[in-house]
Amino acid sequence: MASVPKTMKAVVIEKNGGTEVLQYKTDVPVPEPKEGQVLVKNDYIGINFIDTYFRSGLYPAPSWPYILGREAEGTVVKAGGGETYGIKEGDKVVWMAEGAYAEYTAAPAAKTVKLPKEMESKIGAAALLQGLTALTLIREAHAVKKGDWVLVHAAAGGTGLWLCQLLRALGANTIGTASTKEKVDLATKAGATHMINYSQDDVKSKVMELTNNNGVAAVFDGVGKSTFDLSLECVARKGSMISFGNASGAVPPVTIARLSPKNARLMRPTLFGYIATREEFEHYVNELFEIIPKEKIDVRIHEVYPLSEAKRAQDDLEGRVSTGKLLLDPTALVVSRSSRL
Ligand code: NDP
Repeated sequence: MASVPKTMKAVVIEKNGGTEVLQYKTDVPVPEPKEGQVLVKNDYIGINFIDTYFRSGLYPAPSWPYILGREAEGTVVKAGGGETYGIKEGDKVVWMAEGAYAEYTAAPAAKTVKLPKEMESKIGAAALLQGLTALTLIREAHAVKKGDWVLVHAAAGGTGLWLCQLLRALGANTIGTASTKEKVDLATKAGATHMINYSQDDVKSKVMELTNNNGVAAVFDGVGKSTFDLSLECVARKGSMISFGNASGAVPPVTIARLSPKNARLMRPTLFGYIATREEFEHYVNELFEIIPKEKIDVRIHEVYPLSEAKRAQDDLEGRVSTGKLLLDPTALVVSRSSRL
């Protein structure tokens, strides 16, 4: 059996707040895997916007102190017994659950799968949550068909770049939005057929011009508060307004009468609701792992930050500095800003 220390490095929060509440600790007890869990030594930890919601208090932390983070790639060092779906000690895996900003996580085996042999560790960690989000959104939240017009906000973000690439593979007409020229170029390269810089251009008039005044069959809106009204204005008759995140803040309550002028659908899905069972999780993960090589998906990694620099990483994510995926490496040493330039 691999030797497992008693304590580990982890990023812990003891209260809600800004990134100053992220505490890097070196003496956090290593969790003991329970029945149905596997203890994973994490190599790369995925950062997602949801981590900032648990930190700020927008989503309530289930317990205190709380270790943020929902996904990682690593090696199983101990199995806790019970059903582990064939996953055993020594396996390289990716998992999705809680407590990822740490050297070790006791992850539910039901939400853990083996990393394909040909897949790099980093890519496994970077692809899982955002890739599955984009895949389930275009399959289930609104089943996009070839030729559909679709609007994707924050198209150069982690989830946005996935949406652009998966929608290109489907043959959809994707209108993306982003806030800088660099982001516009990236999303275009990823497959957005039309891009709008929403920090300077009028999105609605551009969308209407492109769609012959019809609007789009679906809007995938992870920006939330600042784009919700605009998104609803861009939806076509009988279209879908898929509001799946709060990067700019939570969307205030909406009166359903606002949907009637266009017979529009409004949905607020979460990935976790699409992969609740082992069968659902395996189904979508298998599809995701097949799509990456088949469609030559570029899983863009913005930066790998040392775990001790989780604060800088979340500052970059919330500060709209990043494009693609941010990862944490629990073994990396701190690199000062000046030596990275
Ligand atoms: P991103 O990498 O997309 O980063 C967020 C992007 O949102 C920024 O880069 C920025 O792009 C844009 N943005 C617009 N307004 C703001 C603002 N006020 N503050 C910060 N960012 C802003 O993050 P993720 O891919 O991790 O997540 C994207 C969205 O998807 C989030 O809302 C997240 O919660 C949601 N999500 C939802 C899931 C679900 O299950 N429902 C699962 C995964 C993600 P720009 O500068 O171009 O505007």
